[in-house]
Amino acid sequence: MNNNKYKILLVEDENNIRHLVCTMLESNGYSVITADCCKNAVTMFASHRPDLIILDLGLPDADGMVFLKQVRLSDTTPIIVLSARSEEYDKVAALDCGANDYITKPFGTAELLARVRSVLRTSRFASERGRLPGGKFRLFDLTIDYDARQIFIGKEEIKLTQTEYNIVAFLSEHSGKMVTYSAIIKAVWGYPDEGSTKKLQVNMANIRKKFGAKPGKQSYITNELGVGYRMNSENE
Ligand code: CA
Repeated sequence: MNNNKYKILLVEDENNIRHLVCTMLESNGYSVITADCCKNAVTMFASHRPDLIILDLGLPDADGMVFLKQVRLSDTTPIIVLSARSEEYDKVAALDCGANDYITKPFGTAELLARVRSVLRTSRFASERGRLPGGKFRLFDLTIDYDARQIFIGKEEIKLTQTEYNIVAFLSEHSGKMVTYSAIIKAVWGYPDEGSTKKLQVNMANIRKKFGAKPGKQSYITNELGVGYRMNSENE
């Protein structure tokens, strides 16, 4: 048995989905422990210290958000929220409470696996990377030089304004993760006001133009309307 497998805590009350996801994760090399309610999730989390949590929000004894908030009080274990709720409000609330990603049911297994890989990789890099001198971010042909505050596509430098650079740098530090509008606004401008979202969207439109977004070309940044932006990662 391989003891180096990533351990995933799957919290889901619907037996069918739990079995399906559990089998799918195990056949892809992960070790899986399960819980069918908030109370069991707390116990399993404390006794197994998983590397990742996949969390359904609609649980029989309490809202999954209760468990999410409890974990985040003391711990940065990555959490992917899995839920039938498709309203933007719920996505934003889960992300703002510290979920790393969000998948709406019904979902494809390939999509879930991609998110699991991405979140595990990002959280591992985040803890190893820090802001070392000479730190660079790379995605396809995009390079960010954090020390020089310069961005290149291929060998060509992309001239961004201070604000545009700050947005891109912030997203890159959370690459693979959907970052909500309000989290970006707080990081870039501080306290939000009425025009903040509009201001962010205008800046993003300029960034995309400068990055030369073309249909069919792999994009660096994904927008989920009403929710936020994600700096993509390479094997999605
Ligand atoms: Ca449920």
